This record gives sequence, structure tokens and C-alpha cells, in this order.
Amino acid sequence: MTRGAFRPRLLAPGPVEVPPAVLEALARPVEHHRSPAFVATFARARRRLADVMAVPGDDVLIVTGSGTAGFEAALATAVPRGGTVLALVGGKFGARWAAMAEALGHPVVRVSAPPGGDFDIAVVAERLRATADLAAVTVVHSETSTGVLHDVEAVAAVVRRERPEALVIVDAVTSLAAAELRPREWGLDAVVSGSQKGVMTPPGLAFVWLSERAWAPAVRPAAYYLDLRRERPQQARGQTAYTPAVSLVTGLDVALGMLLEEGPDAVRRRRAALNEALLAAGVALGMSRFAARPSPAVAALAVPAGVSAPDVVRAARARGATLAGGQDELAPTLLRPSLLGYADRYDAVAAAQLLEDALRDVVPATPVGVAVPAALRALDAMA
Ligand SMILES: *Cc1c(COP(=O)(O)O)cnc(C)c1O
Repeated sequence: MTRGAFRPRLLAPGPVEVPPAVLEALARPVEHHRSPAFVATFARARRRLADVMAVPGDDVLIVTGSGTAGFEAALATAVPRGGTVLALVGGKFGARWAAMAEALGHPVVRVSAPPGGDFDIAVVAERLRATADLAAVTVVHSETSTGVLHDVEAVAAVVRRERPEALVIVDAVTSLAAAELRPREWGLDAVVSGSQKGVMTPPGLAFVWLSERAWAPAVRPAAYYLDLRRERPQQARGQTAYTPAVSLVTGLDVALGMLLEEGPDAVRRRRAALNEALLAAGVALGMSRFAARPSPAVAALAVPAGVSAPDVVRAARARGATLAGGQDELAPTLLRPSLLGYADRYDAVAAAQLLEDALRDVVPATPVGVAVPAALRALDAMA
């Protein structure tokens, strides 16, 4: 198949498109991880990461593994063994953290949000009061399976009010560098993210920030490789406890430099506009917004009644693009296009047309030429 240079390829909330400068960095000769050159790169990447995460530099750690490894590191390092975890479950990722806490031996109490909706803070408050031996609360900021941006600020505030002793552990995997995230002002204790989402690097690295009190010396970490107490003193010196993914760190450093040069606020505005453009294109095609409070990282769109979302995903693939569909029980009805990576206005225009073409492959009566104007109107409204 002949393909143009600028056609849409990865329209998914991770892995995302990676900038050419990052790809170039990934191709450089491998440095030894204890060499002065790599130690400098690692230290700079950590400083840049702290700036992007809006946290003090000393307590951001880079873990080799995907985002899930980062979450496991946070739980295993900070949550006292056997302490109860209140898990806020709004979708697949929230459910994963509940299952992970159970696997690590914690009693788990779940509070659910309706599909596409946010948590009822009054219900969260009631469960907080009712749960004995509460050690931590887990919550997903941008629930990528539903496209909802959960109100983590409100969740953290109610935890601080009702159970100030409980840690607030936040999955910021797709909200980092996409949505406003203020770990210290909101009183969060752990923030976890990963390389293949908003920081536009290939998969394989996770990032964890822990608050001062999350390092309470009395806790015996329930892990070895993912015990962040082994990493913390090493990473403070530009080192790691074990061999890190050297090439990924080198690429990450370049990607973070690009995000900081653009400026975190400008990055968030750009991504919010691109996501609105995808949502507007979908609505113009007869789809509906699934999330009441949409995350800027992913455009959750319910396909029109009678249309199979997996058929649209297959049509997009035949046109050379990976368009994310729904997960689990949302698979038949949901599409989740995303431009979270290296993308601008013209990528949004191309993505809108691809959405229209793929839908028309499945539903021949789909109107022609509606998606791109809708996307452009959304982009201009947010410019
Ligand atoms: C991608 C993602 C993760 C991490 O998944 P990995 O496959 O382990 O990187 C976690 N939470 C959310 C909300 C995600 O979107």
C-alpha cells in the first residue's frame, strides 16, 4: 500500500505517535548506565519529568516497566501491608487497581461510577467513614476506558476531610501532560504515569511520584524490584538500583525537553483542542459523546445505534490507521480515537476525515464532508 507521510497512523490513547527527534535519540548507540554521559541524561530526564508533573524533583522515580508496574510500585512501597484500600472504579483501569490491591493482600472496598459518569462524592464520603483500617484510596484521573476525567481534586479533598490518614494514590497515566494536575495543591500522595501516553515516548517506562508521608519509614514494602525505597537513594545520584531501559530514558529526555519548550499550559491547551476536534467530528457523524466530563486525552464516542464499533475499527485498519475501540463490555458501541502524542491541527483534520471514511465504509449512507468542517470549527473555537 502506498501511503503519504502525514496520514493518521496511531489514533489511540497509547502507544501514541512519537516525534522524529525522539526516534532519533532511541537509535543512538547504547550508553553504559553507570557512565557519566548516561548519569547526566538520567538526572536531566528526572528533573524535566518533575517539571512536567509539577512536583519537587527529588521524589519522582523512573521505573522500567509499563504504567501498571508504576502503580504496583506505588502500592507496594507506600501502603502498609494488610491495610484496606478503597478503590474508586469508573472503568477498566480503576478495576485493575482494585484487583491489584487484592493480589497484594489488601482488603478492598469498591465504589463505582456509572459508565461515562463521575463518582458521587457524597457516596465516597459515606464509604470513607464506614471503612475500617483504611490505608489508601485509589483513583484514576483520566479513565481511558470511558474517556472520563474524574474529579481527583474533589476526591482528594473529601479523603483529607473524612480520613486524613489515608493515602490518595492517583493513576495519572493519560492525564499527565493533558489535563491540569496539581499533586501538592490537591494533597495527593502518589501519582503514577507511563511513557507511551502524553510524554510521547515508546512504551516501557513508568513514573512515580510519592509525597513525603508516603515514604513513612514504618511501612515494609511488599516487593523487591518494585520497592521504590531501593530506587530513591540511587536515583537521587543519577543512578538506578538495576539496569534501566537506557535507550528509552534517552528518548524520554528529548520528549520532555520538547514538552517543556512548548510549555505545559500550551501542551494542555493543544491537546484539549485536538480532543474537542475529534469529539466534534464524531458528533457531526451521528456519534455521541460518552463522557459527561471528557478527558482531553481521549475522545470517547458512542457509535450510532445499529452500527458495530469493531466494524469501524476494522475499516480504519484497512485504511492504515489504528483507531482504538471500546474495551470489554463497551467494545460493541465505543470508539476512542486519541491524538495524545505528537499531533497538531492538521493531524486532527486528517483524523476527522479518516473517522468519516471508516464510518462510511460500514454505513454507506454516512454524509460526506461533515467531519472536517466540524473539527475545524472546534479547533478554531478553542484557538
Ligand atoms: C495506559 C494506561 C495504564 C497503563 O497501562 P500499561 O499498559 O501498563 O502501560 C494505566 N491507566 C490508564 C488510565 C491508562 O490509560
